[in-house]
Amino acid sequence: MLSVIIPAFNEEKCIKEAYTTINTLLKENSIEGEFIFIDDGSTDRSYEIIKELSEEEDNITGLHFSRNFGKEAAISAGLGTASGDCAVVIDCDLQHPPEKIIEMYRLWEQGYEIIEGLKRSRGDENKLHGIGAKLFYSLISKMAGFDMYNSSDFKLLDRKVIDVLNKMPERGFFRAVSYWVGYKKITVEFDVAERICGESKWSSCQLIKYAFSNIASYSTAPMHIVTVLGFVMLAISVIFGVWALIDKIIGRALEGMTTVIIITIFIGSIMMISLGIIGYYIARIYEEIKGRPKYIISSVTKSKK
Ligand code: UDP
Ligand code: MG
Repeated sequence: MLSVIIPAFNEEKCIKEAYTTINTLLKENSIEGEFIFIDDGSTDRSYEIIKELSEEEDNITGLHFSRNFGKEAAISAGLGTASGDCAVVIDCDLQHPPEKIIEMYRLWEQGYEIIEGLKRSRGDENKLHGIGAKLFYSLISKMAGFDMYNSSDFKLLDRKVIDVLNKMPERGFFRAVSYWVGYKKITVEFDVAERICGESKWSSCQLIKYAFSNIASYSTAPMHIVTVLGFVMLAISVIFGVWALIDKIIGRALEGMTTVIIITIFIGSIMMISLGIIGYYIARIYEEIKGRPKYIISSVTKSKK
């Protein structure tokens, strides 16, 4: 059985269509499926719709979060609930083409354990946003050690992988985690479609935040950069120090305050940035050490079979 995990946050307009499209597709290809909708604390009628659907249909489970915990938490809850031999995570707005699920499923049958959706084009994203995102992602992809730009949450995972992910206590990032766990994997390219309805819930600011947390989750490179910067600054200061000493010895007065001011503010900013980076990691440690649950499920609805 294939579990279809669909996180939904204020998607009242999309839920029914998403279900019908995917369910029909699975039936046509004689794949047995169960649907898990995770309502990520929506403020619209999303959960009521999921509930209605689960009463009408025979293969739906709906989870309702007590508040908005974010897509990562929703995916995590979905994986925890899935009972299939494999599970696919797909967006509720069907920007991930549902036909690809079949292709992914066939690959799974061939023995692949992680089938990963890779974005070929990014649909009709805002131009400036697109260029900015591209530059930004290519830079940080290098740091985090995986292709953050084209990878997506659209993945089909084997039971083994799901079990491993369910055992991971940390707030990892689903998109990157498949790079970390290993397993036999293959990618499937897809074109990002238009949203079937509603609008995106991500702002540029959130995306940047998301990217930073991705890096922090999978790499400690920024902290190493701080160390390297420290050595670079040390080298520079040795040069300036020697220079200043020579000036002193030969009795030539230092030219003026400008150099001093520039060096001071430069070192000051590097220190602040470095402290910020270290602080960021400490904050993440703090978050994890509190050991709070990743999400709180306030109600569950299940089809009667
Ligand atoms: N989503 C979620 N919680 C959130 C934000 C988004 O569960 O806090 C879901 C949303 O309902 C959708 C998917 O994550 O199914 C992708 O969201 P969206 O389409 O807004 O993002 P984009 O496609 O623009 O990256
Ligand atoms: Mg979308």
